Amino acid sequence: MMLMILFKDALIFTFDENKPFKSGNILVKGDVIEHIYFEDKKINGYKEINCSGTVALPGFVDAHTHLIQSFGRGLMENMSLTQWLEHIWQYSLDPESSYYSTLLGAIEAIRTGTTTVCEMITECTAPDKVVQAIKNSYLRGVVSLAVSDFQEGEHTPLVSTDKAAERTKSFIEKYHNSSEGRITTKISPVGLPAVTIELLKISKSLADRYNVGLHLHACEGKIQTERSKERFKKSEIEVLYENGILQENTQLAHVIWVTKEDMLLLSKTKTSVVQCPSSNIKLIDGITPISDMMDIGINVALGCDGAASSSSYDMLIEGRLSSFLQKLDKQNADALSPMQVMKMLTINGAKAANLKNVGIIKPGWKADIVFIDIDQPHIYSPNPNALLANIIFSAKGSDVKMTVINGNIVYKDGEFLLFDAKEIFRRGEELLEKTTNKSSF
Ligand SMILES: [Zn+2]
Repeated sequence: MMLMILFKDALIFTFDENKPFKSGNILVKGDVIEHIYFEDKKINGYKEINCSGTVALPGFVDAHTHLIQSFGRGLMENMSLTQWLEHIWQYSLDPESSYYSTLLGAIEAIRTGTTTVCEMITECTAPDKVVQAIKNSYLRGVVSLAVSDFQEGEHTPLVSTDKAAERTKSFIEKYHNSSEGRITTKISPVGLPAVTIELLKISKSLADRYNVGLHLHACEGKIQTERSKERFKKSEIEVLYENGILQENTQLAHVIWVTKEDMLLLSKTKTSVVQCPSSNIKLIDGITPISDMMDIGINVALGCDGAASSSSYDMLIEGRLSSFLQKLDKQNADALSPMQVMKMLTINGAKAANLKNVGIIKPGWKADIVFIDIDQPHIYSPNPNALLANIIFSAKGSDVKMTVINGNIVYKDGEFLLFDAKEIFRRGEELLEKTTNKSSF
C-alpha cells in the first residue's frame, strides 16, 4: 500500500491575492497531493505530521543552475563575466569530485527549500556522475548536457559539431524520464557565443525528435552579446528565433541585453526567461528587464546559477534580489510584488522547465512542498499580506523546516532523512581539499 502522510495545521499558500494563506491539512499519497482538508476530518491509515507554526509553499524551482560548480565556490571572486569565463572553462573535476560537488550543492538547495533543479551540466567530463548525484539527493531534476562547438575564448571547452550532437542524443536517450519520471532532460547548446548555426539546427531537430525542450544561456554579458551581433549581423534573440530555438518549451538564462523587438519575439514564441540575480550582480552582467517582459506576457522564472559565480543555492536570496533590482532599476517601489516573486520561485519555474502538475499545492499535483517556520520574530505577522512580504523580503533559507519532494520527506528539523548527510560532508570536504590544493582556478 502506498504511504499516506497528513501534513496537519499548516498555513497553505494559495496564490490568491486576497487570501494568500489558508489554514488546512495536506494529505499526500505516494508522490501526489491527494487532498487538502480545510476542516477537521477523521481519516484513517496515514502518518500524521504536526505542521503548526509553518507555512506550506510549493517547493522552489531553480530554473537555471550548475550544482556541479559548488567546489568552485569562492575561487573565482572579483571578476567580470569575461574574466570569469576563462576560469570556469578550466574548472574540471574528476568523476568522484563531480559527484560530491553536485551532491553538496543539492543538499544546500534542499536545505533552503528547492525541490526542482534545472541543472545545465557544464565544464564536466563526468555528466553521469552529476545526474547520479541529483538522483541520489531525491531532487526533481531537469538535466541537460551543455555542449559547445565554437571557440568563444581561449579556454572554451569545445568539441566537433558531430560529437556535440552525438553526446546530446545519448544523454537524452539515457536519462529522459528516468528515476520514475523524477529526472527529465532538455537540450543545451550552451549559448550562441560558443556554438555554430549548424549545432543550433541539430539541437532543434533533436528537440523535436525526442519531444524535449531547450535550455540555453542568452544575452548574458554586454561584450558577449555585442560580439554575437558582429558575428551574425543580427541580435542573438533574432538568430535563435530564425533557427527555431524559441518556443514554449525553451528556457533562456539571463537575457539581459535585449531590445523591445527581441522581447516581442520571446513573447510571441512563449519562450521562458530565467533571471539569476546574484550571479548577474557579482559578474556585473546587468539587470534582466523582467518587469517589461512580464508586461508583455513573458514567463519569467528564477535561478541560482552556479555557486562559482553566485556563491549560493538559496532561492529566497534570488527572489529578494530580483524584486529589489526591479524597484531600483525602474525607480518604482511597486515593481515586482511579493506575490509575483512567489510565482517566479514556484509555478513560473515549473512552466519554464516544462513540468506538468508541479508548482502549486493542489490535489492531483506533485507533492513538492516546503514548510517554513514562521514562529520567529523576523517572519511572523498576523496580517497575511505582511506575512507574505516577510517570507519574500526577510526569511532565509535556514528558516526552512521541512522539504518534501515527490512525496518524500527529504529534510526535516535539521536532518536529512533519506541519506547520510554527515558522511557526504566528510567525503565531500576531503575531495574539496584535494581539488582546491591542486587547482589554479
Ligand atoms: Zn549558467
